[in-house]
Amino acid sequence: MSFSKEEIRIALEKVIHPEHGKNIVELGYLEGLKVEENDVFITIHLPKINDPFKTSIEKAAIKTIQTLVSDKLNIVVKFRTPVKKESKVTNTDKLSGINKIIAVYSGKGGVGKSTIAVNLAVALALKGYKVGLLDADVYGPSIPKMTALENARPNAIQEGTKNIIVPIEKFGLKILSIGFFVNPTDPVVWRGPMATSVIKQLTTEAEWGELDYLVIDFPPGTSDVHLTLVQTLKISGAVIVSTPQNVALSDALKGINMFRNKDINVPILGLVENMAWFTPENHPDEKYYIFGKEGCKKLASSENLDFLGQVPLVQGLQESSDSGEPIAINEKSLLGKVFSELSEKIVHKLSEK
Ligand code: ADP
Repeated sequence: MSFSKEEIRIALEKVIHPEHGKNIVELGYLEGLKVEENDVFITIHLPKINDPFKTSIEKAAIKTIQTLVSDKLNIVVKFRTPVKKESKVTNTDKLSGINKIIAVYSGKGGVGKSTIAVNLAVALALKGYKVGLLDADVYGPSIPKMTALENARPNAIQEGTKNIIVPIEKFGLKILSIGFFVNPTDPVVWRGPMATSVIKQLTTEAEWGELDYLVIDFPPGTSDVHLTLVQTLKISGAVIVSTPQNVALSDALKGINMFRNKDINVPILGLVENMAWFTPENHPDEKYYIFGKEGCKKLASSENLDFLGQVPLVQGLQESSDSGEPIAINEKSLLGKVFSELSEKIVHKLSEK
């Protein structure tokens, strides 16, 4: 038995937006509708940021379709809410279509910064946003591996005297990595002028187009590359990633102070605690606090910063990074939900400003 888009659309005419008293189709809010066998994918555009009726509209849409069309249908409703327009991020042409730039940062390497960056970007894209992901980690670019793009080489288009780099599209993201320009087995020894000029090219001479969010995987620590990034781009906010143990936290604090420095002055959106506890896959209810409990939460509270969430240490996350398929793609999995909630919090934090 197959179902037509028309049947679904007619059912959606029964879903009323409580504030306007009109149905969502009439209001022009039905932006996308796809039917694949028993799966129905609906995208609803709500003009208001944080529309209070979002959940009730979602529930009503599912219930109405199941009642009027078929209760065998799996229905996925996504919302696209506009991102509040900021003044343009810089006056450089190639960046003018980017609305918000999110820096994902850690004080030290190996705490899962790139893992959080790629999964956050995927979770935002799954919510219907236009998302770019820039891997600016000159010390160890890992996004090509985490997205199975190790051999990808982006195209360049000639514009006047400049070569404009075209990001690679995968998982609904536009991706560029400093790793696309080096041999994966070569150590990246870019420092100083070389690193900063490559970073400038990947930002100001790349075809990013229109983006709601550009997520940047920052290098860890503090360096001249950080300075270039904050001077070239207007960063909307930084997400600080740390693990709960003291060695990581003290480096995270250095990073917090760097973003707060008056010459850098990047708003900090909050902290994410990665590897917050270990959970064995076959015993999902068990939690082992192998790196200590809630270290990041305590740091957030002592620094008067928001605590954005906790990501557990699970084998599946490491495996998905290694196989090049970000775990957030599976929205219904434990970690899919974690990243979905994290992305929602970040969208919300950015819309507050
Ligand atoms: P960083 O960018 O901070 O250097 P990565 O994101 O590259 O760190 O992560 C380092 C390693 O740890 C990777 O192999 C990654 O798959 C793994 N990893 C990160 N976070 C988790 C987690 N929550 N659970 C399991 N493995 C993780």
